[in-house]
Amino acid sequence: MPVLGLGTWRMGESAQRRAQELDAVKAGLELGYPMIDTAEMYGEGGAEEIVGEAIAGLGTRPFIVSKVYPHNATRAGTIAACERSLRRMRIERIDLYLLHWRGGARLEETFEAFHRLRAAGKIGDFGVSNFDRNDMEDAARLDKGLTGSNQVLYCLSRRGPEFDLLPWMRKRSIPLMAYSPLDQGGLLRKAALKKLADEVGCTPAQLALAWLLAQPGVVTIPKSASRERVKENLGALGVKLSPKVLAELDHAFPPPKGKQPLEML
Ligand code: NAP
Repeated sequence: MPVLGLGTWRMGESAQRRAQELDAVKAGLELGYPMIDTAEMYGEGGAEEIVGEAIAGLGTRPFIVSKVYPHNATRAGTIAACERSLRRMRIERIDLYLLHWRGGARLEETFEAFHRLRAAGKIGDFGVSNFDRNDMEDAARLDKGLTGSNQVLYCLSRRGPEFDLLPWMRKRSIPLMAYSPLDQGGLLRKAALKKLADEVGCTPAQLALAWLLAQPGVVTIPKSASRERVKENLGALGVKLSPKVLAELDHAFPPPKGKQPLEML
């Protein structure tokens, strides 16, 4: 799975913003973003339509992640939802298909549908989103082959997953896909981040993303509807963080207390 993708939440909701959103996604693809994250929920299908339009006619399309609503995630409902998403994006296969959050349907049914979709070639792999450690244990008990991903809220200012979820996932080689990596923009207003970014010689957004990318087993999906910011965010791939800067970031944005060592989990 690629380590950096374009997020699309809040896209496809407004006809007035559509052209700018499409332009930003297209710009990202031209710049070489290898992955797009979307969901049937975003703009109630509107974001998937933007993705479909942005990738139409591309020789090589990016890795596509989409998600099924929990209330659609029954045995038959998951398959129908996936087929609607495929139609909106005008593609034959979703590379990674996630259960958006737990609730509604029984997990057994969702996983059974995911297996059927994978066997039919309609999805490449499957995973979950917003699962905590206990949810992941339930999921792993039901499906020993669950390795796709768990997409969760994780960024410098929200380091909760480090407490027990991330080590548990690392041990099982399940990638964590960090959403809201800029804390929906809020992280960029922190003076400590700005100061350290100046020291490193990058922007605050690049520093926040580079920090996530420096965490083993973590990939991320920043969203921007601006061409310039999409380009800026991609620049995070070129930012290398020294042990000194990583320690300064830990000091400014402390990890959760009582973090358990990997070997105890
Ligand atoms: P985010 O990526 O942390 O932040 C997006 C916000 O930051 C937007 O307001 C954007 O504004 C701004 N921004 C982006 N780049 C910037 C830059 N370089 N400088 C200044 N501002 C910048 O938040 P997110 O959209 O919540 O999370 C990313 C993606 O994760 C989503 O789009 C979605 O695909 C996924 N997600 C999944 C879940 C889930 O439940 N699974 C939940 C939330 C998000 P502009 O657009 O105006 O540039």
